[in-house]
Amino acid sequence: MLRPLRRELGRLSLTVLAGIFAGLAFDSLALGLLLALAAYLALGLRYLAYLYVWAEHPKRVDLPEPGGLWGEVYERLIERNRRSRKRKKQLAEIVAQFRASTEALPDGAVALGEHGEIAWFNASAQAMLGLRIGQDTGLRIPNLIRHPAFSDYFERRDFAHEVEVPSPVNDDITLALKLIPYGSRQMLLIVRDVSERKRLEAARRDFVANASHELRTPLTVLRGYLEMLEPEARREAALAAWRAPLAEMRAQAGRMHSLIADLLKLARLESDVSSHRHELLDVPRMLARAAEEARVLSKGQHRIETEVEPDLFLVGRESEIQSVFANLVHNAVQYTPPGGLIRLRWHGDGGAARFSVQDSGIGIAPSDIPRLTERFYRVDVARSRASGGTGLGLSIVKHALEQHEAALGVESILGVGSAFTCRFPAHRVQRKARAAANE
Ligand code: ADP
Repeated sequence: MLRPLRRELGRLSLTVLAGIFAGLAFDSLALGLLLALAAYLALGLRYLAYLYVWAEHPKRVDLPEPGGLWGEVYERLIERNRRSRKRKKQLAEIVAQFRASTEALPDGAVALGEHGEIAWFNASAQAMLGLRIGQDTGLRIPNLIRHPAFSDYFERRDFAHEVEVPSPVNDDITLALKLIPYGSRQMLLIVRDVSERKRLEAARRDFVANASHELRTPLTVLRGYLEMLEPEARREAALAAWRAPLAEMRAQAGRMHSLIADLLKLARLESDVSSHRHELLDVPRMLARAAEEARVLSKGQHRIETEVEPDLFLVGRESEIQSVFANLVHNAVQYTPPGGLIRLRWHGDGGAARFSVQDSGIGIAPSDIPRLTERFYRVDVARSRASGGTGLGLSIVKHALEQHEAALGVESILGVGSAFTCRFPAHRVQRKARAAANE
C-alpha cells in the first residue's frame, strides 16, 4: 500500500486508540470513540473545505501544509496546477508568436473550415479581400469572393493551381488565390497581390507588339526595293557583283519578316482574347490544307499520310488552330530527312479528341523536350535558321492550345523520330455528319 495512506491509517488508529483510552478513563468507551472520530472527521472536513476554496480561486488562495495524506494530495494538485499553468503560458506565447508572424506576412492567409467557412485571417487578407473582423468569421468564403473563376476553383478544390481574380475591394488590383489543404479537412487560402507582375507582363506584351509593328513598315519598304533590284542585277552585267549580296539581303529581310510576323502572332495570343469568337471548325478540311502545304514544302521528298475521322469537328478559333497544324507539320518536314514518313492523325479519344503529327525524323534528346516551347529555343540553332525557323513556332503552338484548354504532348527518340500530340477537351469536340457540315 502507498506510504502516505499507511501513515494516515496509522494516524486514524492512534486517534481511535486515544478515544478508547479517554473513554476508559471517563468510563464511557462509546463517547470517547465518538469524540475521537468526530475530531478526525472535522479535521478532514476542514482540509476538504480548504481544497474547495482553492479549487475555486487557485491564484488567490494558498493551501496550508497539513502533512499526511492531505498534504500529499495538496502537493500533487499544486504541482499539477503549476505545470498546466506553465504549459498554458507557453502555448499562449506560441500562438501569439504565430499570430504576430502571420500578421507580418505580406501575403494574405485565411484559415477555412471544411465547407470554406472562415475561421481566422491575417491583416493582409483583411485588406486585400475586404474582410471584416468579427462579422465575416464563420461566413463561407465563396459568398464573399463571388468571382466565377474563384467559385469554379473552389468547387473543384484544385489544390495544384492558383486562380487570378480582381480584388473584391478594388478592381485595379489582381489577386492570385491558392488553396492549401491541411489538418483533417481544413484549408488555408493564400492571397497574393500580383497586380505589379500583371502590369509588367502587359507592358512587355505591349512593347513587343508595338516594336514588331513599328519594324514591320520599314522592313516591308526594304523588301520591296530588294525585290525590285534582284531581277535588275540578274539582267545587268554591271550589277553582277551585287547578285549574291542582294539575294542574301532578301533572304535575311524575309527572315526578319517571319520573325516579326511570329512575334506579333504571339503578342496577339498572349493578350486577352477571351472575348474573341469561337466557331465550329471543320478540322478534316483544315488538315487536308495542312497536308497539302506539307507536300509543297517537302517537294515530294517525304511520304505524307493522313488518318482523319471525317465527322470530328472542334469549337475554336480558325486562325489559331490552323497555325498549330501548320507549325507542327512544318517542323515535321523540316526535321525529317528525305525519304522519311510523316503521319497526321485526327481522332476521337473518349469524348475528347487528339491531333498528332508523327515523323521519322532526327528526334529530340529528352533534356531538350521540356524547353521546346520556350521562345527562341532551338536544339540546333544553325539548322533551324537554315530552314527559315524563327524558334517561335512551338511557343505559338503552346499559347494557341492554351487558349483552347488543350495540352501539347511531345514524345521523341533521338535518331528515330518524334510525335507531337494536341489533346482537346471533350467540351470543344463535336461530331457532325459531313453532309450537314458542308451545308
Ligand atoms: P523553329 O522555328 O526553330 O522550328 P520551333 O519553336 O518550331 O522553332 O521548334 C523549336 C525547336 O524544336 C526546333 O528548333 C527544333 O530543334 C525542335 N523541333 C521541333 N519540331 C521538331 C521535330 N518534329 N523533330 C525534331 N526536332 C524538332
